[in-house]
Amino acid sequence: MSRIYNFSAGPSMLPMEVLEQAAAEMTDYNGSGMSVMEMSHRSPVYDAIIKQTEADFRELMNIPDNYKVLFLQGGASTQFAAVPLNLMKNGKADYVVSGQFSGKAFKEAKKYGDAKCIATSEDKTFSYIPEITPDMVREDADYVHVCYNNTIFGTKFPEVPNVGDKVLVADMSSCITSEPVDVTKFGVIYAGAQKNMAPAGLTVVIIREDLMGNAREDIPTMLDYKTMADNDSMYNTPPCYAIYVAGLVYKWALKNGGLTAMKERNEKKAALLYDFLDSSKLFKPTAEKKYRSMMNVCFVTGDADLDKKFCKEAAAAGFENLKGHRSVGGMRASIYNAMPTEGVEALVEFMKKFEAENA
Ligand SMILES: *Cc1c(COP(=O)(O)O)cnc(C)c1O
Repeated sequence: MSRIYNFSAGPSMLPMEVLEQAAAEMTDYNGSGMSVMEMSHRSPVYDAIIKQTEADFRELMNIPDNYKVLFLQGGASTQFAAVPLNLMKNGKADYVVSGQFSGKAFKEAKKYGDAKCIATSEDKTFSYIPEITPDMVREDADYVHVCYNNTIFGTKFPEVPNVGDKVLVADMSSCITSEPVDVTKFGVIYAGAQKNMAPAGLTVVIIREDLMGNAREDIPTMLDYKTMADNDSMYNTPPCYAIYVAGLVYKWALKNGGLTAMKERNEKKAALLYDFLDSSKLFKPTAEKKYRSMMNVCFVTGDADLDKKFCKEAAAAGFENLKGHRSVGGMRASIYNAMPTEGVEALVEFMKKFEAENA
């Protein structure tokens, strides 16, 4: 059996150990005689799985007791509607548009109230993160929404934006668990799990307790954070199997040193690629240096045909999914927690060879 290096932006690589454990437990989980896929979500054996998964996630992210963790469905995209429906008490929210997903979130919020774009980096094709200061935020805004890591453009907030005493909401789909974050600086953090934590189907929401219970009356029950919190994410059937795999991934991360160690490793991997890109005569990184993402490394040759040739030859050599997002072209190497350092080293070697042959 041979595994390729998979640079997909999501769904993406999972740690080999996790896949092996899931495979070993596939037909008989822990002596239950059933697969996790087959068991009732209300059974004691599943209850233990979801509780342990939450406990490990709380430990990994250092989540304070006054925050709830919700395991939901619908992807991060459903949160684009859930956030305004739950949090727009005064009907006003401010959005930072730093890429495609934050643009979608902003557009969705406008359906439900007075959403305002207070800063954008659209003028330079989202190659940087606009600066945010508290005076930019409207006095009566219910919250400020940001996308912390822009998956498509390969940029990331260099620090938590200062929004004064306003509630900060962050889409962390493509950077959650890549490094430690101070959860107390956020009112809500949400993430589709298929990038850095689990297979597709699970969306994780971390929400400060006092922010729940103010939803619009006409909110769909399934989108009401309070309903989900009051029912421990079991108002209906949760994405059972994806939660179980997320639990294995959290255990793996804890065993490997937690988020401090993840950050160290991710910085090293990203530096390998960016250092090469900065010195390359053929490839150019597209994000401004200060705002570079550790997770999604975007680059171009400047020649669309050569980009295409690169992706084709890379795939043939075992480096898959390096094509940039369909909306921007070029290349993108997504190097989430599960991508081993050797994968990045091997990619850089391949890029050097390609450069020598094509420069
Ligand atoms: C992938 C992604 C999304 C969309 O997630 P879905 O789970 O497919 O809805 C939203 N935001 C960010 C930052 C992403 O990377």
